[in-house]
Amino acid sequence: MKPLTQLLRPNIINLKPYSSARDEYTGGAAVFLDANENPYNEPYNRYPDPYQRKLKECIASLKNVEAKQIFLGNGSDEPIDLLFRAFCQPGIDNIVSIDPTYGMYQVAADINNVEVRKVLLTQDFELDVESLLARCDDQTKLLFICSPNNPTGNCFREEDMINLLKRFEGIVVIDEAYIDFAPDKSLLKNLGKYENLVLLQTFSKAWGMAGIRLGMAFASPEIVQVLSNIKYPYNINTLTQQTALELLEKESEKKYWVEQLLKERDRMQNALNDFSFTVRVYPSDANYLLVKVNDAKAVYDFLVSKKIIIRDRSSVSLCKGCLRMTIGQPAENSLLLEALTMYEK
Ligand SMILES: *Cc1c(COP(=O)(O)O)cnc(C)c1O
Repeated sequence: MKPLTQLLRPNIINLKPYSSARDEYTGGAAVFLDANENPYNEPYNRYPDPYQRKLKECIASLKNVEAKQIFLGNGSDEPIDLLFRAFCQPGIDNIVSIDPTYGMYQVAADINNVEVRKVLLTQDFELDVESLLARCDDQTKLLFICSPNNPTGNCFREEDMINLLKRFEGIVVIDEAYIDFAPDKSLLKNLGKYENLVLLQTFSKAWGMAGIRLGMAFASPEIVQVLSNIKYPYNINTLTQQTALELLEKESEKKYWVEQLLKERDRMQNALNDFSFTVRVYPSDANYLLVKVNDAKAVYDFLVSKKIIIRDRSSVSLCKGCLRMTIGQPAENSLLLEALTMYEK
């Protein structure tokens, strides 16, 4: 990896971050009159911990990493945007990403006026490592990989991702939003080993907390520090921090949900394969299935008429004729199968 000072935007290297009242006095006290808070309406009157210390300690022990390797954001969307703002000079730098993949990298790039160089996956949805590296130049700051990939559903080969980490001189961002559905394939165990690795995970999927907006970035303490310097000071609100602390106590519940969803994914995979209009159900490491059908628009429209909404991905690269179906509760999945049986007739 190039030195961080060569990758970061110069204005970010020189930034003097906002210093809050809670930065300037960190101890305990009987009376706090330093932040212009309202003394009434406890506990919401107080600003939240800008560094989410308690929550990070809890996540650190859960994930077996150090608290200083964790950045918490308002969903994964926040670290995605902050990575652009920290590393990419608008109109000058570029990123390299795979195609097809999650749409937010492109949107964040567009907002920040950063060029995205897309490299097609192979026909079997694997990384084309040599083409990815060939598209990188001196102005390429970030390489975005999503594993399990949205919408294809597969994890990439570990050796391919490690190869990219070793050979790309900038930051490799690996979005593991769905990794709880394939925990053996996480690269988190490599965190200390590759200083250019940034791993994104989220509470929005397996943890069932999309509504509280909490995303995680795992990276070297140096990169975490940079992201912390440029975030809004109180980016994770009190309610989110509290709720996450409560729900993290219930890891067994999350494990149960994942088990159920994986069982249902198997059932759906088999059932979907039996329809005459199904061309292919792709293997999945996530909580959704990508299904190639004969007439994607007709299937989609029929399901809408039955008040069942899935995602039409047929206009996405390599996904002609493909629909993406999230795995729901057993009764919801059964309704989907019933509707598809009706469509078939
Ligand atoms: C759902 C999803 C996320 C989660 O985003 P949040 O902002 O954390 O809700 C991130 N990456 C991918 C690829 C996703 O599909």
